[in-house]
Amino acid sequence: KTDETGVRETELSDIFISVKTTSKYHQSRVSILLKTWYRLAKEQIYFFTDANDQEFKDVLGDHLVNTNCSADHRRHSLSCKMAVEFDYYMASRKRWFCHVDDDVYLNVPRLLEVLRGYSHKEDWYLGKPSLKYPLEVVDRENAGMKLTFWFATGGAGFCISRSLALKMGPYAGGGRFVTTAEKVRLPDDCTVGYIIEYLLKNRLTVIEEFHSHLETLWLIRPHQLKKQITVSYSEYSSKPNVINVQGFNSTQDPTRFLSLHCFLFPNFSECRVLL
Ligand code: UDP
Ligand code: MN
Repeated sequence: KTDETGVRETELSDIFISVKTTSKYHQSRVSILLKTWYRLAKEQIYFFTDANDQEFKDVLGDHLVNTNCSADHRRHSLSCKMAVEFDYYMASRKRWFCHVDDDVYLNVPRLLEVLRGYSHKEDWYLGKPSLKYPLEVVDRENAGMKLTFWFATGGAGFCISRSLALKMGPYAGGGRFVTTAEKVRLPDDCTVGYIIEYLLKNRLTVIEEFHSHLETLWLIRPHQLKKQITVSYSEYSSKPNVINVQGFNSTQDPTRFLSLHCFLFPNFSECRVLL
Protein backbone atom coordinates (compact mmCIF):
# COMPACT_ATOMS: atom_id res chain seq x y z
CA LYS A 1 0.00 0.00 0.00
CA THR A 2 1.35 3.45 -0.92
CA ASP A 3 0.18 6.98 -0.12
CA GLU A 4 -0.58 9.81 -2.56
CA THR A 5 3.14 10.64 -2.91
CA GLY A 6 4.00 7.02 -3.71
CA VAL A 7 5.53 6.23 -0.31
CA ARG A 8 4.91 2.68 0.90
CA GLU A 9 2.93 2.40 4.12
CA THR A 10 5.04 1.61 7.19
CA GLU A 11 5.16 -2.09 8.04
CA LEU A 12 6.32 -3.81 11.20
CA SER A 13 9.56 -4.64 9.39
CA ASP A 14 10.30 -0.88 9.15
CA ILE A 15 10.60 -0.54 12.92
CA PHE A 16 13.69 -1.19 15.03
CA ILE A 17 12.75 -1.91 18.63
CA SER A 18 15.46 -1.80 21.26
CA VAL A 19 15.02 -3.03 24.81
CA LYS A 20 17.50 -1.87 27.42
CA THR A 21 18.27 -4.49 30.03
CA THR A 22 21.00 -5.63 32.40
CA SER A 23 22.23 -9.09 33.35
CA LYS A 24 20.55 -9.17 36.74
CA TYR A 25 17.13 -8.62 35.11
CA HIS A 26 17.29 -11.30 32.43
CA GLN A 27 15.27 -13.77 34.50
CA SER A 28 13.14 -11.42 36.54
CA ARG A 29 12.15 -9.05 33.74
CA VAL A 30 13.08 -10.23 30.25
CA SER A 31 11.52 -13.71 30.65
CA ILE A 32 7.98 -12.36 30.71
CA LEU A 33 8.68 -10.21 27.65
CA LEU A 34 9.87 -13.28 25.75
CA LYS A 35 6.64 -15.06 26.65
CA THR A 36 4.44 -12.18 25.56
CA TRP A 37 4.93 -9.24 23.18
CA TYR A 38 8.38 -10.30 21.94
CA ARG A 39 6.64 -13.08 20.03
CA LEU A 40 4.74 -10.56 17.89
CA ALA A 41 7.88 -8.87 16.54
CA LYS A 42 10.81 -11.26 16.98
CA GLU A 43 12.70 -9.96 13.97
CA GLN A 44 12.37 -6.31 15.02
CA ILE A 45 13.43 -6.55 18.65
CA TYR A 46 17.00 -6.30 19.99
CA PHE A 47 17.94 -6.62 23.66
CA PHE A 48 20.90 -4.55 24.81
CA THR A 49 22.56 -5.93 27.91
CA ASP A 50 25.93 -5.95 29.67
CA ALA A 51 27.05 -9.58 30.00
CA ASN A 52 27.10 -12.84 28.11
CA ASP A 53 24.18 -15.09 28.95
CA GLN A 54 24.32 -18.39 27.07
CA GLU A 55 20.75 -19.36 27.87
CA PHE A 56 19.39 -16.13 26.39
CA LYS A 57 21.86 -16.18 23.55
CA ASP A 58 20.53 -19.60 22.52
CA VAL A 59 17.03 -18.14 22.28
CA LEU A 60 17.83 -14.70 20.88
CA GLY A 61 21.00 -15.18 18.82
CA ASP A 62 22.05 -11.88 17.21
CA HIS A 63 19.10 -10.18 18.86
CA LEU A 64 20.89 -10.22 22.22
CA VAL A 65 23.63 -7.60 22.16
CA ASN A 66 26.30 -7.48 24.82
CA THR A 67 27.21 -3.79 24.86
CA ASN A 68 30.17 -4.36 27.20
CA CYS A 69 28.89 -1.34 29.13
CA SER A 70 29.18 -1.56 32.93
CA ALA A 71 26.33 -3.33 34.68
CA ASP A 72 25.14 -0.55 36.95
CA HIS A 73 22.74 2.36 37.09
CA ARG A 74 25.34 5.11 36.71
CA ARG A 75 24.82 7.77 34.08
CA HIS A 76 27.83 6.71 32.08
CA SER A 77 26.75 3.04 31.94
CA LEU A 78 23.23 3.86 30.81
CA SER A 79 24.29 6.34 28.14
CA CYS A 80 26.86 3.78 26.99
CA LYS A 81 23.95 1.41 26.26
CA MET A 82 21.93 4.10 24.49
CA ALA A 83 24.97 4.86 22.32
CA VAL A 84 25.12 1.22 21.22
CA GLU A 85 21.35 1.10 20.64
CA PHE A 86 21.58 4.16 18.46
CA ASP A 87 24.43 2.78 16.36
CA TYR A 88 22.61 -0.53 15.86
CA TYR A 89 19.54 1.36 14.78
CA MET A 90 21.49 3.44 12.26
CA ALA A 91 23.06 0.31 10.82
CA SER A 92 19.61 -1.32 10.53
CA ARG A 93 18.46 1.37 8.06
CA LYS A 94 14.89 1.08 9.40
CA ARG A 95 12.34 3.89 9.27
CA TRP A 96 11.80 4.10 13.02
CA PHE A 97 13.88 3.73 16.17
CA CYS A 98 11.78 2.79 19.19
CA HIS A 99 13.35 2.35 22.61
CA VAL A 100 11.79 0.73 25.69
CA ASP A 101 13.03 -0.41 29.10
CA ASP A 102 12.79 -4.05 30.16
CA ASP A 103 9.85 -3.35 32.51
CA VAL A 104 7.60 -2.33 29.64
CA TYR A 105 4.83 -4.13 27.77
CA LEU A 106 4.78 -2.92 24.17
CA ASN A 107 1.50 -3.30 22.29
CA VAL A 108 3.09 -4.07 18.93
CA PRO A 109 0.10 -3.66 16.55
CA ARG A 110 -0.89 -0.42 18.26
CA LEU A 111 2.66 0.96 17.90
CA LEU A 112 2.54 0.23 14.18
CA GLU A 113 -0.88 1.85 13.85
CA VAL A 114 0.32 5.04 15.55
CA LEU A 115 3.59 5.23 13.58
CA ARG A 116 1.62 4.95 10.34
CA GLY A 117 0.25 8.38 11.15
CA TYR A 118 3.71 9.99 10.84
CA SER A 119 6.25 10.14 8.05
CA HIS A 120 9.72 8.72 8.70
CA LYS A 121 10.98 11.28 6.18
CA GLU A 122 10.05 14.09 8.54
CA ASP A 123 11.59 14.80 11.94
CA TRP A 124 9.58 13.11 14.67
CA TYR A 125 10.34 12.52 18.33
CA LEU A 126 7.34 10.72 19.83
CA GLY A 127 6.94 9.91 23.49
CA LYS A 128 5.66 11.19 26.79
CA PRO A 129 7.31 13.31 29.47
CA SER A 130 6.84 12.35 33.09
CA LEU A 131 7.36 15.90 34.31
CA LYS A 132 4.70 18.61 34.10
CA TYR A 133 7.29 21.20 33.13
CA PRO A 134 10.36 21.19 30.89
CA LEU A 135 13.71 20.14 32.34
CA GLU A 136 15.85 23.11 33.36
CA VAL A 137 19.61 22.75 33.55
CA VAL A 138 22.46 25.22 33.95
CA ASP A 139 24.10 26.14 30.71
CA ARG A 140 27.79 25.34 31.08
CA GLU A 141 28.69 27.48 28.11
CA ASN A 142 26.88 30.63 29.27
CA ALA A 143 27.47 31.35 32.94
CA GLY A 144 24.30 32.15 34.85
CA MET A 145 22.04 31.04 32.00
CA LYS A 146 19.61 28.17 32.07
CA LEU A 147 18.45 26.00 29.26
CA THR A 148 15.12 24.25 29.19
CA PHE A 149 13.80 21.42 27.08
CA TRP A 150 11.31 18.54 27.16
CA PHE A 151 12.28 14.89 27.03
CA ALA A 152 10.36 11.64 26.69
CA THR A 153 10.77 9.34 29.69
CA GLY A 154 12.82 6.30 28.66
CA GLY A 155 10.73 4.07 30.91
CA ALA A 156 7.59 4.90 28.90
CA GLY A 157 9.29 4.26 25.56
CA PHE A 158 9.84 6.68 22.70
CA CYS A 159 10.29 6.61 18.93
CA ILE A 160 12.47 8.66 16.60
CA SER A 161 12.06 8.88 12.83
CA ARG A 162 14.95 8.07 10.50
CA SER A 163 15.10 11.64 9.25
CA LEU A 164 15.60 12.96 12.77
CA ALA A 165 18.01 10.18 13.76
CA LEU A 166 20.23 11.13 10.82
CA LYS A 167 20.42 14.68 12.16
CA MET A 168 21.30 13.36 15.62
CA GLY A 169 24.32 11.55 14.20
CA PRO A 170 26.89 14.26 15.02
CA TYR A 171 25.81 14.20 18.70
CA ALA A 172 24.73 10.58 19.13
CA GLY A 173 26.42 8.40 16.50
CA GLY A 174 29.72 6.53 16.69
CA GLY A 175 29.73 6.56 20.49
CA ARG A 176 29.37 10.35 20.70
CA PHE A 177 26.14 9.94 22.68
CA VAL A 178 28.27 9.22 25.76
CA THR A 179 30.33 12.38 25.25
CA THR A 180 27.18 14.46 24.87
CA ALA A 181 25.59 12.93 27.99
CA GLU A 182 28.74 13.50 30.03
CA LYS A 183 29.06 17.07 28.85
CA VAL A 184 25.58 17.98 30.08
CA ARG A 185 25.74 15.46 32.95
CA LEU A 186 22.30 14.09 32.16
CA PRO A 187 20.75 10.59 32.13
CA ASP A 188 20.30 8.93 28.75
CA ASP A 189 16.65 9.83 28.12
CA CYS A 190 17.21 13.47 29.12
CA THR A 191 20.20 13.57 26.80
CA VAL A 192 18.01 12.42 23.89
CA GLY A 193 15.68 15.34 24.66
CA TYR A 194 18.62 17.72 24.96
CA ILE A 195 19.98 16.71 21.55
CA ILE A 196 16.62 16.89 19.79
CA GLU A 197 15.04 19.91 21.47
CA TYR A 198 18.00 22.03 22.45
CA LEU A 199 20.72 21.23 19.91
CA LEU A 200 18.53 20.43 16.89
CA LYS A 201 15.62 22.75 17.77
CA ASN A 202 13.00 20.10 17.16
CA ARG A 203 10.05 19.28 19.37
CA LEU A 204 8.84 16.32 21.35
CA THR A 205 5.38 15.27 20.17
CA VAL A 206 3.49 14.04 23.21
CA ILE A 207 1.70 10.74 22.68
CA GLU A 208 -0.52 10.01 25.66
CA GLU A 209 -0.56 6.26 24.97
CA PHE A 210 3.00 5.76 26.29
CA HIS A 211 3.03 4.94 30.04
CA SER A 212 5.89 4.47 32.50
CA HIS A 213 5.57 3.35 36.11
CA LEU A 214 5.95 6.96 37.17
CA GLU A 215 2.25 7.21 36.31
CA THR A 216 -0.58 5.70 38.29
CA LEU A 217 -1.07 2.72 36.03
CA TRP A 218 -4.22 1.29 37.63
CA LEU A 219 -6.07 4.45 36.56
CA ILE A 220 -6.03 3.31 32.91
CA ARG A 221 -9.55 2.09 32.14
CA PRO A 222 -9.66 -1.58 31.09
CA HIS A 223 -11.60 -0.74 27.92
CA GLN A 224 -8.85 1.73 26.98
CA LEU A 225 -6.04 -0.84 27.18
CA LYS A 226 -6.21 -1.82 23.50
CA LYS A 227 -5.36 1.76 22.52
CA GLN A 228 -2.25 2.06 24.70
CA ILE A 229 1.21 1.69 23.18
CA THR A 230 3.16 0.88 26.33
CA VAL A 231 2.48 0.13 29.97
CA SER A 232 4.85 -0.74 32.79
CA TYR A 233 4.77 -1.83 36.45
CA SER A 234 6.67 -1.25 39.63
CA GLU A 235 7.00 -3.86 42.24
CA TYR A 236 8.93 -2.13 44.97
CA SER A 237 6.23 -0.11 46.69
CA SER A 238 3.81 -1.31 49.36
CA LYS A 239 0.92 -1.03 46.90
CA PRO A 240 2.17 -2.31 43.56
CA ASN A 241 1.64 0.08 40.67
CA VAL A 242 0.23 -2.19 37.97
CA ILE A 243 -2.49 -1.98 35.35
CA ASN A 244 -6.00 -3.11 36.11
CA VAL A 245 -6.73 -6.09 33.87
CA GLN A 246 -8.57 -9.34 34.44
CA GLY A 247 -6.96 -12.69 33.80
CA PHE A 248 -4.39 -14.50 35.91
CA ASN A 249 -4.16 -13.81 39.63
CA SER A 250 -1.44 -11.60 41.05
CA THR A 251 0.65 -14.54 42.23
CA GLN A 252 0.72 -16.11 38.76
CA ASP A 253 1.11 -12.76 37.04
CA PRO A 254 2.46 -10.04 39.35
CA THR A 255 3.37 -7.66 36.51
CA ARG A 256 -0.07 -8.16 34.81
CA PHE A 257 1.77 -8.49 31.49
CA LEU A 258 0.57 -12.04 30.82
CA SER A 259 -3.02 -11.05 31.57
CA LEU A 260 -2.75 -8.01 29.31
CA HIS A 261 -1.24 -10.12 26.57
CA CYS A 262 -4.15 -12.59 26.81
CA PHE A 263 -6.66 -9.74 26.92
CA LEU A 264 -5.20 -8.33 23.69
CA PHE A 265 -4.38 -11.64 21.98
CA PRO A 266 -6.63 -14.37 23.41
CA ASN A 267 -5.50 -16.93 20.85
CA PHE A 268 -2.06 -17.47 22.39
CA SER A 269 -1.69 -20.97 23.81
CA GLU A 270 -0.88 -19.66 27.32
CA CYS A 271 -4.25 -17.91 27.29
CA ARG A 272 -6.41 -20.95 26.68
CA VAL A 273 -6.76 -21.69 30.40
CA LEU A 274 -8.60 -18.38 30.75
CA LEU A 275 -11.31 -19.15 28.20
N1 UDP B 1 19.26 -0.85 33.99
C1 UDP B 1 20.55 -1.05 33.51
N2 UDP B 1 21.57 -1.20 34.43
C2 UDP B 1 21.33 -1.17 35.77
C3 UDP B 1 20.02 -0.96 36.22
C4 UDP B 1 19.01 -0.79 35.31
O1 UDP B 1 20.77 -1.09 32.31
O2 UDP B 1 22.26 -1.31 36.53
C5 UDP B 1 18.18 -0.69 33.01
C6 UDP B 1 17.00 -1.58 33.31
O3 UDP B 1 17.17 -2.85 32.73
C7 UDP B 1 15.85 -0.78 32.70
C8 UDP B 1 16.30 0.66 32.88
O4 UDP B 1 17.71 0.63 33.06
O5 UDP B 1 15.72 -1.06 31.31
C9 UDP B 1 15.64 1.34 34.06
O6 UDP B 1 15.90 0.61 35.21
P1 UDP B 1 14.83 0.45 36.38
O7 UDP B 1 13.49 0.10 35.80
O8 UDP B 1 15.40 -0.53 37.38
O9 UDP B 1 14.84 1.87 37.07
P2 UDP B 1 13.90 3.14 36.91
O10 UDP B 1 14.78 4.18 36.32
O11 UDP B 1 12.73 2.78 36.03
O12 UDP B 1 13.48 3.42 38.30
MN1 MN C 1 11.72 1.05 35.46
